[in-house]
Amino acid sequence: MKVDCSPDTAAPPHWLAVAVPTPAHSALAEPLTYRSAQPLPPGTLVRVPLGRREVLGVVWAAPPAPPAALAERTRTIAGALADVPPLDDAWRALIAFTARYYQRALGEVALAALPPQLRTLDAVQMARRLKRAPAAGADTPADQSKIIALTAEQTLALAEIDQNPGPFLLFGATGSGKTEVYMQAAQAALTQDAAAQVLVLVPEINLTPQLQARFAERFGAAAIACLHSGLTPAQRLKAWLAAHTGQARIVLGTRVAVLASIPHLALIVVDEEHDPSYKQQEGARYSARDLALYRGHLGHAKVILGSATPSLESWHASAPVAEGGAGRYQRLAMTHRVGATGDNAGLPRVLRVDMGRQPKGTLIAPPLLAAITERVARGEQALLLLNRRGWAPVLHCADCGWKSECPHCSAYRVFHKIDRTLRCHHCGLTERVPRACPACGNLDIGTQGRGTEQLEERIAELLAGVQRPSGEPVRIARIDADSTRGQGKLESALAQVHAGDVDVLVGTQMIAKGHDFRRVTLVAAINPDAALFSSDFRAPERLFALLMQSAGRAGRDAASGADSQMWVQTQHPQHPLFVALKSHDYPGFAARQLAERQQAGFPPFTHLALLRAEARSQDAAQAFLTALAAQAAALPAQDAAQAEALAQVRWYPAVPLAVQRVAGIERAQMLLESAHRPALQRVLAACQPLLHALRATPEHRAIVRWAVDVDPQGL
Ligand code: ADP
Ligand code: ZN
Ligand code: ZN
Repeated sequence: MKVDCSPDTAAPPHWLAVAVPTPAHSALAEPLTYRSAQPLPPGTLVRVPLGRREVLGVVWAAPPAPPAALAERTRTIAGALADVPPLDDAWRALIAFTARYYQRALGEVALAALPPQLRTLDAVQMARRLKRAPAAGADTPADQSKIIALTAEQTLALAEIDQNPGPFLLFGATGSGKTEVYMQAAQAALTQDAAAQVLVLVPEINLTPQLQARFAERFGAAAIACLHSGLTPAQRLKAWLAAHTGQARIVLGTRVAVLASIPHLALIVVDEEHDPSYKQQEGARYSARDLALYRGHLGHAKVILGSATPSLESWHASAPVAEGGAGRYQRLAMTHRVGATGDNAGLPRVLRVDMGRQPKGTLIAPPLLAAITERVARGEQALLLLNRRGWAPVLHCADCGWKSECPHCSAYRVFHKIDRTLRCHHCGLTERVPRACPACGNLDIGTQGRGTEQLEERIAELLAGVQRPSGEPVRIARIDADSTRGQGKLESALAQVHAGDVDVLVGTQMIAKGHDFRRVTLVAAINPDAALFSSDFRAPERLFALLMQSAGRAGRDAASGADSQMWVQTQHPQHPLFVALKSHDYPGFAARQLAERQQAGFPPFTHLALLRAEARSQDAAQAFLTALAAQAAALPAQDAAQAEALAQVRWYPAVPLAVQRVAGIERAQMLLESAHRPALQRVLAACQPLLHALRATPEHRAIVRWAVDVDPQGL
């Protein structure tokens, strides 16, 4: 039903503040005032005129009547989606916080959180969609017979979750049964309240079909709504409505799901909470993990963060104050794999190969090759990890020094042997491999370094004479962004591995996450050293997590767990990171990293924000940021708090990004750091009008775009 909104001259109009999708950098960050013939409660979806368009908006508040002169010009809403229940206070508070904290316009964040189809469906189509949704609570009850006897660690964790407010950090080894804890905590929440809803966040839905399947098996598919970026607009609307109307008792999704309307939210689970993909990298650069915590706090929902390798932020937040931690989360530990007996808690043995002692250019050291051979000959699977796709990262000429640089980016184009192309992994530029050096004509051009394509080819050569138990040859497959381009390709490749149709799987970090490969008993990191010396302070944390997660793929069956292996080929076998890995010592690794971070003044001991600018020239990009810093320093101290905030924020000089030029655009950034989060927030808010004004000046015409990244993941 469409509400009649034609101006009614008899009755006085009602005024509505409506959040609308204002252009990203228009400086119109606040809701706009409209008139309406009828009062509409906050949270109502409306269609309103904006410029020459009609757009979807959300009623935010009922403001006082504008001054007469302004009231004259105030436009009237075009209609309301009266059949959709209004978005509740908690949702609006979450959106308002997200916009404020991540320095974006309210309407932009609100509309980005709604399914796009809401913008185009008319009231009749909408009513039809709503009618199709079954009534709330009409789900099949959980199949109690599937509930298994818990391990002692699971029992303890669930008792703590039941009795305490949280938030909780479930620090559980891979295979320790975290998913079972999530499901039973969800079960408890749903049983306590017939309307309760649970939100389960996962890093990437494609990579975790098993989690989805396990929840569906336990709670019934009808009770679950999945929200992620791979859905069609119609599927997205359906899932969103199921969550919004309370029909879905469990909402399972990727980071976008944290902003979904879930009115009866009682529990939020963030699985693999350390995963960088929880941070949005464009638009409102929010962290779904951090918003989950805020949302739990707002709506009195319990929050469980789970990981075998927690982010150092969460680890610090969950350390007791007496141990120098923040004591804000309750840490629950599950250190043993389910069914583990003997040493190592059922985790694989870690073996380091000193590549300094191998002949130069060795790709796979003989002892590792022997181990792989032994495994596949026994009918087990091996997983080889190399974080570079393509055949070789650089093509070069030994005569004149030419290298396969991308003309548009400050990066090399990667040699892909399969289709004999040079491809830029930043801007996508793809060309045929030249027959001769483009600079000097030398016919003998060579490659430098190795990628997954080359590893796949070499391992096939090396295992050519090896037979599986059936006497057949070894089957090798590769999974990376190249091999899985196209709908359903990743799923089918993974299904092959699960079905046992692959003996050796080569891949990038895509294969390290979440998969429950039953027959993998050997995992090897072929060349993980680069991350040890990266300029990004988070690189060691990432590497350690990647290797621990990869090790977690090995021996997931309790029967093979004790006999499984994780190999690391390195020039630095004595590096503390690998020493900690050898004993599966995340706490030891984290303690050392945190001590370093404290000394260097990095998160979680300080808070960071990046101001980024892109322009045709590096000078222009940096000049914009430098001008902003100068203006911010000269901001009049409006009050004592503002002056104090400015004094508490440290500004670093503008610098080029690590990959400074992409597709012909130069990129620069400026780091802001503060020990006080509110001070940083205040200063960033004060910068917004300065940024808008600066951008509009002729001196800074060359600026293509700028952005603020609060709590950036990478520097
Ligand atoms: P995690 O999420 O910590 O990696 P999972 O929850 O996937 O671990 O558990 C690993 C395996 O152990 C799964 O196959 C799961 O079904 C099984 N499992 C979990 N808890 C139990 C239990 N209490 N008894 C028997 N098997 C269990
Ligand atoms: Zn040359
Ligand atoms: Zn390029």
